[in-house]
Amino acid sequence: MHSQIMLEHVDCALCGEDNTDLLFVGRDRLHNKEGEFGVVKCKDCGLIYTNPRPTREQMAYYYPQDYSPYQSFHEGYTEIFNNIKSFSGRIKNEIKKILLKEYYHYPQQWLDCQNIGKNPKLPHWLKNIFLHLAVNYFKTHYYKIPPWKGEGKCLDFGCGKGEYLITLKKMGWNVTGFDISDYVRESDVSVITGKFDKSNFPKDEIFDLITMWHSLEHTRHPLLVLKEAHRLLRKEGWLYIEVPDNQNLINRFFREDWFAWDVPRHLYHFSLATLKKMLRKAGFRITFSKYLPLNYIMGSLVYFLKRHKLFLKCDLNKNSPLKMFLYYLGHFLATIHNSDIIFVCAQKEK
Ligand SMILES: [Zn+2]
Repeated sequence: MHSQIMLEHVDCALCGEDNTDLLFVGRDRLHNKEGEFGVVKCKDCGLIYTNPRPTREQMAYYYPQDYSPYQSFHEGYTEIFNNIKSFSGRIKNEIKKILLKEYYHYPQQWLDCQNIGKNPKLPHWLKNIFLHLAVNYFKTHYYKIPPWKGEGKCLDFGCGKGEYLITLKKMGWNVTGFDISDYVRESDVSVITGKFDKSNFPKDEIFDLITMWHSLEHTRHPLLVLKEAHRLLRKEGWLYIEVPDNQNLINRFFREDWFAWDVPRHLYHFSLATLKKMLRKAGFRITFSKYLPLNYIMGSLVYFLKRHKLFLKCDLNKNSPLKMFLYYLGHFLATIHNSDIIFVCAQKEK
């Protein structure tokens, strides 16, 4: 079976050279599919990528039906507001309304349309204390929510099952998804499939927001994708990108067992530095970046234990003390810029 896997050799997508060091040879550890793939680092620009990699035709083999981003999701994931049955939920909703209005400029008219009942009005002094605490919390946990654009148009590149688009639609955005196939079945969100170029998007500068949630690392030509995003984005628009980052303590600790190598689905393995270089080449500048408390420690730990044949009887995901520890560890690592997922906001430079 192995010999039948069709591979291709590619040059560096960032600098165009073919001058690399082999970091390690990886396998598909998520689905245990056949094949071995080099993970190489360009000696000229530092970009890390999968090479050789499966051909375009071969790639479908590595995205089976049970690949999790294509599965259905819990409707609750798309909610911004809390359950109005509890008093604490109503307090949180009132704070979220104030934040969305005063910091994200969502109009009162839109807020009034939200079906979140009547919230308790907070005294002025208490409101100020809550707001001070809540702004940072909101920025950390709801960083995917963009400021209001008024009839704003968003394109989610690699929209998968579409939960982000469904959330944004609820937030008053005009949404379009793009993916290799239409996996969005739960709503009437429009999804464009096929090529990410003029054949599907003939007009320039049509979106106020383009988002790429863990999709850029899956693309065959990330620089071309970013250049296309540059063409499609309006002058003052935002490009939101979230990708795994490979320059941090988690990656260094787990090495080959790091969950987010995810070869051969991840064809590119960015660091903040290489992502910045590629964005600059596509005509963008990063206006904001952050390391997320979310991370791949649990998945990496499972790979590590499996490789050392330390099979645990218990399911680590059900181990509450471990999960609690990793939650705080994730926040600590993000604070010292050593978490393994980064989020960047970029805008057009020219
Ligand atoms: Zn290079």
